[in-house]
Amino acid sequence: TSTEQRFHYKAETQRVMQLIVHSLYSNKDVFLRELVSNANDALEKLRVLRLREGVEAAEPAIRIRPDRHAKTLRICDTGVGMTRDELVNNLGTIAKSGTSQFLKQVRNADNDAATLIGMFGVGFYSAFLVSDRVEVVSRHFAANSSQYRWLGSDLDAFTVSPDEAADLDGGQHGTCVTLHLKHDDVDRYADVEKVEQLVTKYSQFTEFPIYLYKPVTAGAGAAAAKATHADFQQPDGSKVDEATDELLVEDAAASDGGTSPAETRYEYVRVNRAKPLWLREPSTIAAEEYRQFYKDFTGDYGDPAEWTHFRGEGEVEFRALLFVPQYPAFDLFDATAKQGREAVKLYVRRVLVTDRLGEKLLPRWLNFLRGIVDSDDLPMNVSREMLQKHRALALIRRKLQHKAIQMLERLANATDANAYHSFWKSFGKSIKMGVIEEPTHRDKLVKLLRFKTSKSGGNLTSLDEYVSRMKRDQKSIYYISGEREGAIAKSPLLEKLRQRDYEVIFMSDPLDEYMLPHVPRYGNHKLSSASREKLRFGRNDTWEDLPKIKEARARLKPLRQYLEQVLADKLEKVVVSSRLHETPAVVVSGRYGYSANMERILRAQAL
Ligand code: ADP
Ligand code: MG
Repeated sequence: TSTEQRFHYKAETQRVMQLIVHSLYSNKDVFLRELVSNANDALEKLRVLRLREGVEAAEPAIRIRPDRHAKTLRICDTGVGMTRDELVNNLGTIAKSGTSQFLKQVRNADNDAATLIGMFGVGFYSAFLVSDRVEVVSRHFAANSSQYRWLGSDLDAFTVSPDEAADLDGGQHGTCVTLHLKHDDVDRYADVEKVEQLVTKYSQFTEFPIYLYKPVTAGAGAAAAKATHADFQQPDGSKVDEATDELLVEDAAASDGGTSPAETRYEYVRVNRAKPLWLREPSTIAAEEYRQFYKDFTGDYGDPAEWTHFRGEGEVEFRALLFVPQYPAFDLFDATAKQGREAVKLYVRRVLVTDRLGEKLLPRWLNFLRGIVDSDDLPMNVSREMLQKHRALALIRRKLQHKAIQMLERLANATDANAYHSFWKSFGKSIKMGVIEEPTHRDKLVKLLRFKTSKSGGNLTSLDEYVSRMKRDQKSIYYISGEREGAIAKSPLLEKLRQRDYEVIFMSDPLDEYMLPHVPRYGNHKLSSASREKLRFGRNDTWEDLPKIKEARARLKPLRQYLEQVLADKLEKVVVSSRLHETPAVVVSGRYGYSANMERILRAQAL
């Protein structure tokens, strides 16, 4: 163990490496997520040992350092570290249980390789996506451990040798992975801004602090306070790091000769947030914190309309934080909008796994929600396809839907009615979709519907409110559907209802027509269309009108026959009825079949 030794990768490992390099060339970014999550895992392992066995350890941290000059990107952690044997075994010679699964899954074109690598325990090899040469220097946390260097320069073999240099960044134990970037990748992955962007995307909520070595403007904040330091520092920034091991914020003069080296200073600056909000107890979180989190997380400028923060317990444990935005995303109702912008993201142990589960995570009608689900139980080593079939996911989905409905009910019952009304304007369509697609929750969702009516004076009303205003002798809930609210409000079809002072719901949204068949009644009341052929108000009504109708029928028979003859191909039949009050005639829909409005909608869609 005192000299360099050469090892061949396990055959399977080699295939995995090749596959990763070939299938992920368009999605290289993921390597950083994988390496940071390995660092995070190493810190987590040490944290557990520390708690259990009181192991002495350095401050837990991850330090990332892009270096344009050296064409490297380095990721260091103060975690458990690896012994020599661990370096040999974990990074290449022992096939993981997940490797053959991974190989199988990745060949299935439907699977997203970027999601798979993290899940099958082959994440480390993604380093070769962007590197010609990967160097891993590690020292195990146990006292008196020696430091070793693992070096992989191609996809065939690697070497392991003792490492004399004390170049672990940040502590006496842990691991530093240095990527010698491929020529074409230097611009991207040795670029501080790009790296920060990636870390923020994937790992902003990881448990342990992530520091990025980045330029800070001289004269600002911490940099200014330490300005005098710079005079004593050597031009080579890396040496300074070693000297200031224990400092969480280190600084050094710029080493890569930017445009104005005198003014550009580099420091390790924390780039991820402190404890992620969703892991804290809701009772300790102020409303303002939720609002701020929402804005940071979604990039939305406005506050959320409502939120719910809860913990799922039992068979699968998870935390979730769901928000109702105030306004829909511009492409929310665009069926052609591309997949993958689902706004509820799935994290496993604080690391973003995917935001592409779509309807597997939340039913379609709830796709306007934003937020996160984080579970320790969902194995990261499950492919997307398996995850979809995973029972845990179904349980999470059910619970999310349940909680989301409760949140919407809370919004609907809030003292400030305006909040729900503006919600309705933004997402009313989603609720209607829910009524159509979600039979198990239909009763609850119907209560969330809002309409304008002949008596609401332009305001929105719920079915409960409508029912509370029904006339004593009124049996049905009446509605009229049509293209424009203004037109249907004036429809002659309403004359009779108006005469009886019955309220009529206006349905001018095409979606209403699709929804109505799913809502034949509300409570004890039938929903009746004002534009249907028969419009009866109960027995009294018929008796009252019967003699008059009989007389009219006899008198108007010739006219009726004439109209039926002339309009034979346009009408089913002509009927003398008492439904109109002032208007002489009206065209109505048959009792069965499409309403006129539905026909109009279908015609429009056929175009
Ligand atoms: P996974 O993380 O899913 O096990 P990886 O391919 O990402 O798979 O990593 C392989 C193994 O290498 C890890 O299980 C771990 O034992 C070891 N390893 C990788 N990175 C580190 C690190 N920064 N510190 C300690 N061990 C590491
Ligand atoms: Mg990993």
